[in-house]
Amino acid sequence: MVKKLRNYINGEWSDVQDAQTLDVMNPATGEVLGHVPLSAASEVDRAAQAAAAAFPEWRRTPPVARVQYLFKLKRLLEENFEELASLITQENGKILEEAKGELARAIENVDVACGIPILMQGDFLEDIARGIDEFMVRQPVGVCATIAPFNFPAMIPFWYLPYALACGNTYILKPSERCPMTMQRAMEFIDLLGLPTGVVNLVNGRADTVNAMLDDPVIRAVTFVGSTPVARHIYSRAAANGKRVQAQGGAKNPVIVLPDADLAMTTRIVADSAFGSAGQRCLASSMAITVGEARKPFMEAIREAASSRVVGYGLNPGVEMGPVITSQSRERILGLLERGLKDGAQVAVGGHAKTVSGYEKGNFVEPTVLQDIVPDSELARTEVFGPVLGVMHADAIEDALKLVNNGQYGNQVCVFTSSGAAARRFRYEAEAGNIGINIGVAAPMAFFPFSGWKDSFFGDLHGQGKHAVEFFTQTKVVVERWPSDWSRKF
Ligand code: NAD
Repeated sequence: MVKKLRNYINGEWSDVQDAQTLDVMNPATGEVLGHVPLSAASEVDRAAQAAAAAFPEWRRTPPVARVQYLFKLKRLLEENFEELASLITQENGKILEEAKGELARAIENVDVACGIPILMQGDFLEDIARGIDEFMVRQPVGVCATIAPFNFPAMIPFWYLPYALACGNTYILKPSERCPMTMQRAMEFIDLLGLPTGVVNLVNGRADTVNAMLDDPVIRAVTFVGSTPVARHIYSRAAANGKRVQAQGGAKNPVIVLPDADLAMTTRIVADSAFGSAGQRCLASSMAITVGEARKPFMEAIREAASSRVVGYGLNPGVEMGPVITSQSRERILGLLERGLKDGAQVAVGGHAKTVSGYEKGNFVEPTVLQDIVPDSELARTEVFGPVLGVMHADAIEDALKLVNNGQYGNQVCVFTSSGAAARRFRYEAEAGNIGINIGVAAPMAFFPFSGWKDSFFGDLHGQGKHAVEFFTQTKVVVERWPSDWSRKF
């Protein structure tokens, strides 16, 4: 059944009157799953007003009482785990196992936010001068908002939502218009929590809706995850409007393969990183740099790993890779490949659209390996966001590090080696915020920050863990003196 998506504002579901709608498509089957409304600024304002009205009471609700709602949310997400994971696969295309992994990380963030009675504590020092005490408390910021991308429909909203609420803020989520079904369903569970009305709100839409959020004076803080050009826009417009903002952007994620690595393990892990979620992960390794004699055995093994990958509908057992999100996305990827070949790259495996029997309308792309990528070419610099691994070669680790650090992005870099000294040098010198050592997707657990650098991140504090707690609170420092001769004597 095709679902008509709605907004959730002030504790009520509402149809968006007179709004243009978009089809939400299953990228594997081509089936229309839902119609998502593109909300006008008036809907954003309605949500902002509801959240602002709920804030004074919510911030006074004791942290231990606030987290009781999160414990209940965790239970509901776990009880409905299979349904939500299946929805992720249907609207996003990633295979069911990956959808379950994403959902598990979302729940892990709820777990961590339940520690808020400790995480939100301040500092106290007596006698900063004789008889004078000073302390710092963390107070919520007010109305906060998140703008999410399509590639992790559940996990990314949960990098923020549980912390924002636990810290005593009220909240508005704008999911991706391409994958809004999962959070619509999750919000139906949130509706069952019995939260005071207006504490959590959901507004659907795309760029115009986002811009209305960035300009709304009631919204005090914005978190964003998406592509770098949009991240830059969000960061500057929100900051110009005086908001606290963090914006995570795109990535390239090189991986260095040293000749002393266990090549069988390395290739398996790099293939999972490059082709998992059809390469639509901000931590997908999309460029391998082989060093010295690693080149030949790595190429042989990665060719085999790519060509044997089973492509199809992610709900079917045995499938290892799903489609990319839209046909436009597939065209963009194939266009990049074509230009890469003109620039001198060679196809080792794949390089074309793929037709999957029974799913002829799906946006499938062959798992692709390109070799001899020319440094500084478009393909070497650009985020592909598809199942494409480029391979370059370097004679020594310092040349590989130069290639890594020349890039505009700094989301993740990985090294495969059996040398502790090489690994240490690499993690010390590599310019990225997430480092993998013999790991292909160095995704921080919920109790660590998701640390992008360079053009992968605009801001200071990141999502998840203590960073999220700091982002969603403002510090207040109190210096106090109670001279005994000013006080009543007892
Ligand atoms: P996107 O930038 O197209 O969209 C992200 C969000 O921004 C959506 O909600 C969309 O409605 C909104 N948006 C799009 N264009 C806008 C505009 N012009 N003005 C205002 N808002 C706009 O990103 P996407 O395609 O949904 O997601 C994929 C991208 O996200 C990739 O680049 C990927 O690397 C990145 N990503 C980064 C991280 C990270 O942690 N760094 C994590 C996941 C995804």
